[in-house]
Amino acid sequence: MLRTSIGWASVLLCAAMFANAAQAQAPARPEFAATKVEGTDNVYIFRNGGHQAMFIVTSEGVIATDPVAYGKPNGGQDYVSAIRQITDKPIKYLIYSHHHYDHIAGGKAFKDAGATVIAHRRVKERLSVLNDPHTVLPDESVSDEGRTVKLGGTSVELKYFGLSHSDSSLVMLLPKEKIVFAVDILPVGQVPGRGLIDFYPLEAEDFIKKVLALDWERLIPGHPGPNDRLGSKQDAQDQLQLLQEASAAIKPLAQAGKCWEPVEKEFKLPKYENWPGYTSGLPFIARRYCGLWGRGT
Ligand SMILES: [Zn+2]
Repeated sequence: MLRTSIGWASVLLCAAMFANAAQAQAPARPEFAATKVEGTDNVYIFRNGGHQAMFIVTSEGVIATDPVAYGKPNGGQDYVSAIRQITDKPIKYLIYSHHHYDHIAGGKAFKDAGATVIAHRRVKERLSVLNDPHTVLPDESVSDEGRTVKLGGTSVELKYFGLSHSDSSLVMLLPKEKIVFAVDILPVGQVPGRGLIDFYPLEAEDFIKKVLALDWERLIPGHPGPNDRLGSKQDAQDQLQLLQEASAAIKPLAQAGKCWEPVEKEFKLPKYENWPGYTSGLPFIARRYCGLWGRGT
């Protein structure tokens, strides 16, 4: 009898603990979602996993950016369907931020919906050679002078500031809303990492200074920031400073013959150790700046 009572008590205790744990657990984050940007009438973010893009719904149609469907065969269609939940206006444009597949794979669903695909001229040059089965070639190329796309009272200014996170990166400015969409070059409150594989360190500093000189208040990054927050000019300034500090720290070590090792093994940026991506990002930072100052690449 005693054993039975203890048995039941254990079961009840376990049940109670399980219920508490279930209550404490946050609802699972959906794989993809479209969210209106606070304080705007018609600017949205479509997020698919750890990637995101901006789209704008106007009276004459939709301006979409980056399909964000790498490794997701239905991702482009999911994005189009998410737009269709909000509006039945035609999707007129799909603008690529740069040529990296993790942001631009999946454009076919947009082409099928009638969109014109726009990108910097280097995107078409690169994609034509690579011939990726999941990535649609641009229909129209933007020269280094940039271009403004206008539709239904919305202007999207496509700015090209030279080499940066890639050689094909466009910054998209909504002058009326004072919002910029900049992908991979300005991670919000995060340490850069793998993206530095195709990164031009000296030119990127100039690029960020040119972005800072534009008139904007909020930055939509290509990967969600901590708690999905948007970036500010302070975030862009902080990212520039991180890059400058990494560069300045590695330069004398590289010139003293310490690259690739021991720099790749020992390099630290303790000021940023609480930023997301610190541990995983350090080796990529060390390798890129060892490449610059230790090899001249
Ligand atoms: Zn990229």
